[in-house]
Amino acid sequence: MLVRNAIIVIIGAGILSFGLLYAYRIIKILRNFGLAQPWIVLSTLISFFFIGYLFIALRFLGIDLMPSLSLENLVTVIFFFGAVFVLVLAILNRDLFANIFGMVISDSEALSRFSEHINLPVRLVLSMIKPKYSVACDICNRSVQYSIPDIVRAHPSLDRGVVVEKAMGGVNYQLFVRHYCGKELREIPVCHDSHFEYRSNRPSRPV
Ligand SMILES: [Zn+2]
Repeated sequence: MLVRNAIIVIIGAGILSFGLLYAYRIIKILRNFGLAQPWIVLSTLISFFFIGYLFIALRFLGIDLMPSLSLENLVTVIFFFGAVFVLVLAILNRDLFANIFGMVISDSEALSRFSEHINLPVRLVLSMIKPKYSVACDICNRSVQYSIPDIVRAHPSLDRGVVVEKAMGGVNYQLFVRHYCGKELREIPVCHDSHFEYRSNRPSRPV
């Protein structure tokens, strides 16, 4: 019997159960937005680790639930899915931080994404847009500077940052300008006409 090892593994299982609790809370939040799926996968992995930990702890205590399963095989499986877990978590964090702080891409890459999104050639877009625009924040009254590449960088899912609206005799572009208003991140919906001239803006909202 390896009592000390069993105790440490059981403490580990306890820590995992807290991790599972937090994962469930995240699922609860994300479910309303249809984004819970990766966290359901992570919760399943945590549950799997939890069972693995208990299984090993019991074996350390001399209780063998599956004598045919060797410790080597069990550790191999836990190591493998541990790596999968880390990868999924790293991707989710990358997406989360990209959503908060924006993606790190060059102006030209951002512009090519933009033109692809609105279905216009890059050259045409470049001939119409200005390098900088500005809009007044309705909360702090500061003038917020933005460019088209800034909008693209701030929205990894571009359909949330640039909405093409068909209007009489052309199109309008609804751009969502991100702005740190004090400590709060806010978004100002700004309307541009078919030549990318600023037209109007609507009240800002917290992100
Ligand atoms: Zn502000």
